[in-house]
Amino acid sequence: MPKVFVTGVIPDIGLELLRKKGFSVEVNDSGKDLTKEGLKKVLSEYDAVIPLVNDKLDSEVLKAASPKLKLIANYAVGYDNIDLSAASQKGIVVCNTPGVANESVAEHVFALIFACNKSIIDADKFVREGKYKRWDPNLFLSHQVWGQTIGVIGLGRIGTFVGQIAYGGFRMNVMYYDVKRAEDFELICEARYSTVHEILKEADVVTLHVPLTEKTRHMIGRDELKTMKKSAILINTSRGPVVEEKALVWALKEKVIASAGLDVFEFEPEISKELLALDNIVVTPHIASATFETRETMSRIAAQNVIDVFEGRTPMGLVKTG
Ligand code: NAD
Repeated sequence: MPKVFVTGVIPDIGLELLRKKGFSVEVNDSGKDLTKEGLKKVLSEYDAVIPLVNDKLDSEVLKAASPKLKLIANYAVGYDNIDLSAASQKGIVVCNTPGVANESVAEHVFALIFACNKSIIDADKFVREGKYKRWDPNLFLSHQVWGQTIGVIGLGRIGTFVGQIAYGGFRMNVMYYDVKRAEDFELICEARYSTVHEILKEADVVTLHVPLTEKTRHMIGRDELKTMKKSAILINTSRGPVVEEKALVWALKEKVIASAGLDVFEFEPEISKELLALDNIVVTPHIASATFETRETMSRIAAQNVIDVFEGRTPMGLVKTG
């Protein structure tokens, strides 16, 4: 009976699928991440592992994998926590859960846009602190998002959803950059394929949806932030290191840009005190995909990836063959 280890508590639906197929499933329900040693132990004892994004499966950890470890079925869309070439060298298949978070992350992007633009956090505090004494026509004024320009950097599954909501829901002008051009999207959303520089210069909202790779690490640094409009909002729900945190702190402090809505952080879960001290940010703890719907689908797909590999089929979340 193949043994599967899940490094954190995920919805039962996927675990039940695995058990029904005869897998033995164990879950780390300690509420704590596994240590490096803990991860090595799991990789050396199990036939498949379902890790969370917190689990860094680098080359050192992957060296501990036993030959029986067939697959790592990441419980995430991104897979930058796994050293793909080290996994390949060991013959381990790597999978993810693609496409499950489009709606949830896109909704979160708009939650962050509106929280930033309409000062929702500050307005809430204002009311709670008993400062709402009279209706004031000048209180918490903002420009409407309707008709503004949004720049989507990384037009994959999530970026496309964001662009469609922006265009269809708020009549925003859509600019986008991706390594691949998307002519259908241009037609549907009247979108403009632009360079990163053009987006930074013109967009009122810049939203990042690239994966973390060596090319996208620090894609947004001091120079890029300097190019943005003073009134612009930067939204990052992709991966923290895509934005250089030090440069962002500087830009927000010096009001080089207006505000930032951040769900991910360069050194998460560590966040610099300087960043948290700023009042022109809205921050959430990497929860853009945290809906019941998405989590259940992630659980189902991660489990199905495991089942497919063991039954000799190509899994829908295949990232790299072993
Ligand atoms: P995707 O693979 O569908 O899209 C990524 C897009 O980025 C692709 O179109 C690709 O061509 C493009 N790209 C890659 N390198 C690029 C570069 N250097 N410059 C410009 N474009 C580039 O992925 P997705 O499902 O849309 O997810 C995007 C990212 O969002 C994931 O990789 C993950 O890191 C992140 N994510 C975060 C959460 C969260 O909870 N915050 C949830 C899901 C996904």
